[in-house]
Amino acid sequence: MNTPVTLSPEQIATLTDVRHALHRRPEVSGQEVETAAHIVERLRDLDADQIWQDLGGHGVAAAFDGAAPGPTVMIRCELDGLPIPEQSDLQYRSEIADNSHTCGHDGHMSMVIGVAMALCDKRPQRGRVVVLFQPAEETGQGAPAVVADPRWVELRPDYAFAIHNLPGLALGAVQLCDGVACCASRGMQVRLTGKSSHAAAPEDGVSPAAAMATLMTSLPALSSGGALQAGFKLATLTHAQLGEATFGIAPGVGELRCTLRAVTDADMADLIERAEAEVRAIAARHSLEVNISWHDVFSATVNSAAANVEVMRATKRQSIPLRAAAGPQRFSEDFACYGLDGVETAMIFLGSGVDQPQLHNPDFDFPDTLLPVGTELFLVLINQLLGWAEDA
Ligand SMILES: [Zn+2]
Ligand SMILES: [Zn+2]
Repeated sequence: MNTPVTLSPEQIATLTDVRHALHRRPEVSGQEVETAAHIVERLRDLDADQIWQDLGGHGVAAAFDGAAPGPTVMIRCELDGLPIPEQSDLQYRSEIADNSHTCGHDGHMSMVIGVAMALCDKRPQRGRVVVLFQPAEETGQGAPAVVADPRWVELRPDYAFAIHNLPGLALGAVQLCDGVACCASRGMQVRLTGKSSHAAAPEDGVSPAAAMATLMTSLPALSSGGALQAGFKLATLTHAQLGEATFGIAPGVGELRCTLRAVTDADMADLIERAEAEVRAIAARHSLEVNISWHDVFSATVNSAAANVEVMRATKRQSIPLRAAAGPQRFSEDFACYGLDGVETAMIFLGSGVDQPQLHNPDFDFPDTLLPVGTELFLVLINQLLGWAEDA
């Protein structure tokens, strides 16, 4: 029972091939058609008991049932790549010019295929394992769409686990957050409308320029600074556009985008209120119409104590170094959605090396050495909660 789980060299070679194949064909959020088809084909080959397709978009899930009733354990990964041209000389580099797997979702998918491979050989003793290949993580739209799918009731787990690789953390080490694992975030899009005029007579128009200039400093000034804990708030200006690229027209429209971030959903609600009040006050002062819309909405991802205990036990069994997290990650994860339903969830960070390029950098590549580490960790979690026949 306490011996570590280890994949065979043949299994590791297969997972490496799977990752390289996925790495070559990255598809962006909401367009993961080929990737989903590839995954379905593999799950069929691995004798899944049930397969669901087109979940919340192009999502795919498969169930592997134990002989006796018991809890459902979900292992989740992401299907999507990014609209970032890859910079690498890798033999398996992206064949799609503008897209890349620079968040490592190719690696996450391969680890979950590894779980399905093991389940193909040996079902759990009781309960059910659901492997979920979720679409559109990068935009935050995938998980809410999966949970909103009428078929979610067939999949709904008691426990859900996900691994995200983490550059900056020692290769193969695990970092587990107590409580909040990833910040809440959302994109604020502001459109200010006045009236354009001849550039020779700006007094005839209503330009949003001064209001834009104010907001470009006053919105980021809503940030709290300080440690990543309750109370932390960050507003980052990401885009601004004013009028047309001419010399003859004074602008009548201005648009800016700002990403709000907070550790807790309550702090996010407060930051939203302040940001909206600021935009409306400045717009009113400059006699501008204002339209505010929200995009890429992520709740805070919160690890449950019960799920964390299981991860700690599993890392111990596998002799994986466990690093206490100083706090949550600043980035967001739509994995948060699965925990909103009373499901015990843990987002596990698996170190991809201290010198690894950061996620979403054009030269990021998921380290293959992590493939067995992540797969084996998932298998130990499944064993702890559902057992294998041999441990009966
Ligand atoms: Zn990402
Ligand atoms: Zn990611």
